[in-house]
Amino acid sequence: MIKILVCDDDSSILEVLKTILLSEGYEVVAAKNGMEAIEIFKKESPNLIILDVSMPGMTGFEVLDKIRTYFGERYIPVIFLTASIKIDDKLRALHGGAVDYLVKPVSPDELTARIKNFLELKEKHDKLKDEATFDWMTGTFNKGYFLKKAEEELEKSLRNNIPLTFILMDIDNFKEINDTLGHLAGDKVIREFAERLKRQTRKIDLIGRFGGDEFMVMLSHKRKEEALVAAERLQKAMKKPIIFEKNKINTSISMGVIEVKDIKKVEMNYLLKRADEALYEAKSKGGNCYILR
Ligand code: GH3
Ligand code: MG
Repeated sequence: MIKILVCDDDSSILEVLKTILLSEGYEVVAAKNGMEAIEIFKKESPNLIILDVSMPGMTGFEVLDKIRTYFGERYIPVIFLTASIKIDDKLRALHGGAVDYLVKPVSPDELTARIKNFLELKEKHDKLKDEATFDWMTGTFNKGYFLKKAEEELEKSLRNNIPLTFILMDIDNFKEINDTLGHLAGDKVIREFAERLKRQTRKIDLIGRFGGDEFMVMLSHKRKEEALVAAERLQKAMKKPIIFEKNKINTSISMGVIEVKDIKKVEMNYLLKRADEALYEAKSKGGNCYILR
């Protein structure tokens, strides 16, 4: 359900807005002042925000400035609804990141029409963002997004001297599954591989699908000893047969494990090259093993 946060110090306006928005089928969360709006925003993650400008305590502008620091990569339309017709206020709102500025009294039809348009824009934005972030088949990060996040983590880890490890992995003889049981069986194996990876890693770790049956995992705060334990756990997790229709599919994985610690200036490309070499070596040893570089 679409959730709209409204913030106004005038409770009669809050009531009117609530009535209008509820009749359009939106869920409404209301705040009487800026502090409340910020708290509700953090708890409720609304899809759109309607803000008054002049309120006792914090102004709507201050609320917007504060709330925007929590947006992260999200797109959340903010509409000002105010009695102020001052051009300076209007400009402050728009420069502050608001998508619209409406002067009270506003016609309910105009308000809901604008809300609908901004929500449509948001939906398109969110869909594109998802496509640019995730691998649609497994829900893990796609290669581009994984590398972007990994690069950020790498910088942080080098700056603060925090250990970081990467494991590049690939299913052994995966083509054979496609060739003997068909592509749907192959898809099932890739999906199950990703699920097991998610279960074996922590929330702060990153998982990216690099293509086909190749995945990379970034293990945050883990030294090589811990990464090797993780690699063994992954290997064990993948040993459990995957059921497709009436077939029990047995798989194994090969891994290249890379430790970042103590390398003063490294780039992701260099780490990828090393991971590739380590994985290649694991494959050339017959697979079902890991190599540390
Ligand atoms: P190796 O042990 O050396 O890794 O050999 P392999 O058979 O696993 O071969 P490789 O990793 O090179 O092959 C990956 C294959 O995965 C090739 C491609 O046709 C297939 N593939 C890529 N994407 C998908 C997908 O989304 N679904 C399925 N079913 N197959 C895919
Ligand atoms: Mg493979």
